Amino acid sequence: MARIVMKFGGTSVADLDRIRAVAGRVAREVEAGHEVAVVVSAMAGETNKLVKFCTDLSPLHDAREYDAVVATGEQVTTGLLAIALQQRGINARSWQGWQIPIRTDGGHGKARIDAIDSALLIERMRQGQIPVVAGFQGIGPDNRVTTLGRGGSDTSAVALAAAVKADRCDIYTDVDGVYTTDPRIVPRARKLATIAYEEMLEMASLGAKVLQTRSVELAMKARVRVQVLSSFEDRPGSDLPGTLLVDEDEIVEKPVVSGIAYSRDEAKITVRRVPDRPGIAASVFGVLAASNVNVDMIVQNVSEDGDTDITFTIPRLELRRVRQLLEDAQGRIGYGLLLTDPEVAKISVVGIGMTSHSGVAQTMFKALAERSINIQVISTSEIKISVLVAEDYTELAVRALHTAYGLDG
Ligand code: ADP
Ligand code: ASP
Ligand code: MG
Repeated sequence: MARIVMKFGGTSVADLDRIRAVAGRVAREVEAGHEVAVVVSAMAGETNKLVKFCTDLSPLHDAREYDAVVATGEQVTTGLLAIALQQRGINARSWQGWQIPIRTDGGHGKARIDAIDSALLIERMRQGQIPVVAGFQGIGPDNRVTTLGRGGSDTSAVALAAAVKADRCDIYTDVDGVYTTDPRIVPRARKLATIAYEEMLEMASLGAKVLQTRSVELAMKARVRVQVLSSFEDRPGSDLPGTLLVDEDEIVEKPVVSGIAYSRDEAKITVRRVPDRPGIAASVFGVLAASNVNVDMIVQNVSEDGDTDITFTIPRLELRRVRQLLEDAQGRIGYGLLLTDPEVAKISVVGIGMTSHSGVAQTMFKALAERSINIQVISTSEIKISVLVAEDYTELAVRALHTAYGLDG
């Protein structure tokens, strides 16, 4: 007998038929004698709709009220799945984040989980009741509902698995595992049987939405055994149908590049004609840091006549706010012109084998040059290289790199 946390994403609970199918899947684990807790997302499209309600009313709305609104999507699916399970004669009940409680910090809209009180859930599971827990939500220090950032139900599931000391956390989604790149844009992408936590962490933080970055961070830290599986497919007889997250040393053959990620979530800002003197970067980025803006890629151009340009990327959703912040600070920073471009995409190649190989970047630059794709900004770390390109070239760039690194299936 094992204790399992099963998480179902938006497409897996998109309508009543799918919710019935999910109940069937849960029933099978229960019938096999396992203790099960379930985490659900909102029905597909629901969270987008709720977010739009908030931004349509006011682009700069109160984040606490945003959380009150967008957390409701998950409340609906917990109740519906509990009913579907009860229909099958299974003892189940819904749990909202605040009822457990799942305690978070006060970062409304992108809160972090601090603690989960698991005693009651464990007791109920031992008695044979299935908790159906709302993903994506918790309760903050101000006793108000918080949400964990888009895709946050993955993190709810891993955190719950850690809290109840589950043997596994199974993430059911609309693809049957983690692929070398998004299989929706590269049909020749290959499914990975295993992926190292470190690689998955990079892939997720660089845009691969199959797992939320924080869920991978948490799985790595709390040693949760996570696998990504399809909720639409069944492969009887296979005990490892999806992708398992593992430690780096469990991977015998380390490919130089194991995956390609892309993100359309960033925007580019260029601050032109800033005086080229010590402290100028500190003054530009100081303005952003003071307002909690995450800056990602940065380049500073060679100075001409004592002036220079600084280009960087920020989350696209924050472009309006950041523009305003920099315009308000123009006098203090002393720049000439501010340019913004939301139509960019960041393309990244990731691999733990990169540390011991040379020429990886050159392969990337050559493949992009052959397709006449201009590179706007470059950034690197130990196990990844990222470039910023015009958004229109996203698919072309990802496919070209997938082929160039020999990843095509
Ligand atoms: P869920 O609603 O189940 O949480 P998501 O839409 O958040 O599902 O995540 C699954 C999606 O992630 C897939 O449909 C796929 O398009 C996308 N994806 C991006 N990169 C990858 C990758 N490397 N491997 C698998 N899926 C990926
Ligand atoms: N429903 C939330 C979202 O769409 C959380 C999740 O699905 O993981 O972002
Ligand atoms: Mg998701």
